[in-house]
Formats: sequence, structure tokens, C-alpha cells
Amino acid sequence: MKKHVVLYKKLSAPLMERLEAVAQVTLIENPKSAEGLARLRDALPGADGLLGASIKLDAQLLDLAPKLKAVSSVSVGVDNYDIDYLTRRGILLTNTPDVLTETTADTGFALLMATARRVVELATMVRDGQWKENIGPTHFGTDVHGKTLGIIGMGRIGEALAQRGHFGFGMPVIYHSHSPKPAVEARFNAQYRSLEALLQEADFVCLTLPLTAETEGLIGAEQFALMRPETIFINIARGKVVDEQAMIEALRNKQIRAAGLDVFEREPLAADSPLLQLDNVVATPHMGSATFETREAMARCAVENLLSALAGDRPKDLVNKEAWKHA
Ligand code: NAP
Repeated sequence: MKKHVVLYKKLSAPLMERLEAVAQVTLIENPKSAEGLARLRDALPGADGLLGASIKLDAQLLDLAPKLKAVSSVSVGVDNYDIDYLTRRGILLTNTPDVLTETTADTGFALLMATARRVVELATMVRDGQWKENIGPTHFGTDVHGKTLGIIGMGRIGEALAQRGHFGFGMPVIYHSHSPKPAVEARFNAQYRSLEALLQEADFVCLTLPLTAETEGLIGAEQFALMRPETIFINIARGKVVDEQAMIEALRNKQIRAAGLDVFEREPLAADSPLLQLDNVVATPHMGSATFETREAMARCAVENLLSALAGDRPKDLVNKEAWKHA
């Protein structure tokens, strides 16, 4: 009998075909709406596998799925899942690393350039018909090339950001991570720093680490106080790694120069968020991996991970390795 897969994210036609060749598929559209969530709850009792992203699958919800064998997330971040709970139940959790690394680093660099050179603010001025004379110092930005790039979380995306900064823009790279990375240091002439030293020294402070119990609220008032009025803060990790209110204060008080933000405490960001009142903020809609090519590659990766898990094989991108023993 075919396994039952509940999809809570639409797939392209070829990927849907690939999945339907081996599984019975139920697609839940708009899973964030009340009706979508009700449909998801109704489908869970029959589910052998789940595939999707961007909704919190907590224990209460997954208790409705007694047959569940695997959850395949179309993301690299796994903060929407209770990993201990999944492991206890022997449910495999997979993610989609690597395929989104370069695209997400591109987004990081786009934010870095946009904030430093005030691209959005000045382009809006032109669009609004407010470009009346040659621009002067009140509209000048600050250089990117040669400035110090500080990366917090030297993993796949951090490394791809370091590559862009070092080779493309001649930026000295400093970083903070759980542990020093000798190969990265050799490749990019990068230097390890304590978190405090990095915050004091970097011209660009970029967050590229996961949201975990340990990193939630990692950057708050105390950390913004260590940055300089020239510092530009970039977050392409997760909103909750930062105390958003403390960041707003730091931006308002010009404790830091600007922020480029792809992620927020609550998403979608409310239209009345104080962040949107600030000229020195460039805010994007969690678009780190959002290109046609990369989103398709992520979905393909998620489908293959799920099919492996349901076939009883160890999926390539298994997150909770301990669950494999129980699977
Ligand atoms: P990764 O390869 O696992 O890298 C994460 C790095 O963070 C690791 O090298 C780890 O250091 C470091 N780290 C973890 N906890 C830390 C802590 N408490 N202090 C210092 N460093 C810490 O992951 P990735 O593929 O680069 O992705 C990183 C994150 O980016 C994801 O988890 C996701 O939340 C986010 N992301 C966002 C978007 C977007 O659309 N904006 C897209 C993709 C990913 P060690 O190696 O030393 O343990």
C-alpha cells in the first residue's frame, strides 16, 4: 500500500509527479489560515510523512499523527520543530542544507550593500520625484570595500558570506562561532574573536547562526551597546536571535548606523512596526533563499529526503541522527 504524505507547501508539477508516483498525497493549502490548520489536523491521523515549511509543528499537533515516520522541512533552519519530541517518537526530521547557502549569502550581501550605500532610501527619493539637485553629504553612504566583516555563526552561510567579503570586496573577516574554524581562517585570512570583541570591532555585524534555546535573544541591549555608531547590523538568521525592541532603540539613538533585516521576531512584519519608520533600516520579507532555482532545489531535496525516509533508508539530510536508531 502507498504511504500517505501530507504536504503543507505546494510543489512544482514535476516534483508532485515524483511524489505521487510512490505516495498518496494530500495537499493542505494555506496551512497558516484557520481553515488550513483545521484541514491539516484532519489529515494528520493518516499521515506517514509530512513535507512543508514555515509553520510550527509542535507536540500537541503531532500527537494527532500516530503513524508519522518522517517530517521533511523545506528549510535549513529547524526552529519550527520540537526535535526532542520527534526523536523520542523515532520520527525522522530532515532539512535542506547546502542548496540554499549561496543564495542566502547573496541576500546577506545585498542587505549589506543596500544599508551601507542607502540604496532603498535613495532609490525611493528618486521614484518619489524628490531628486532635485546633485546629492551631497546628507545622502552619502559609507564604503563596503576594505571594511571589517564580522560574522556570527561561521557555518555554511557564514562561510559563503566570508567568501564574498574577502575575495570580492577586500574585507578583513573576523568571526565568532562555537569553535574556531582553521580551514576558514586559512581560506579567507579570517580571525576568531569572542562575541564581545567582534561586536566592538566589526564594521558589519552579520548574524548567520541558527535559532536555538542558546541563541534566542543573544543580541540585546548589552550587545548593541558594544557596537559603534558606524556599525551596520545584518540579520539573515532568525528574528528571535535579536531583542527587536533593543535593536529599535539602538537604531533610533544612532547607537548603530543602520540595519539590514530579512527576519523578524514576528513574521510577516506588522505594517505599523516602528522598524518601518526608520530610514536607516532595510527590511526584506524573509527572502533569503527565495529565488526560482533555489526554492525548486530545496523542494527537490525535501522530496528526496522524505522518500528515502519512507522507504526505510537513512535520508541524506537527517537532523535528529539519534532518531535513526529507533526508526
Ligand atoms: P550551519 O552550517 O549549521 O551554521 C550555523 C553556524 O552557527 C555553525 O557553524 C555554528 O557554529 C554556529 N552557531 C550555532 N550556535 C552558536 C552559538 N550559540 N554561538 C556561536 N555560533 C553558533 O547553518 P547554515 O546553513 O549556515 O544556516 C544558518 C541559519 O541561517 C539557519 O539555521 C537558518 O535559521 C538561517 N537561514 C535563514 C535564511 C533566510 O531566509 N533568511 C535562509 C537560510 C538559513 P559551530 O560550527 O562552531 O557549532
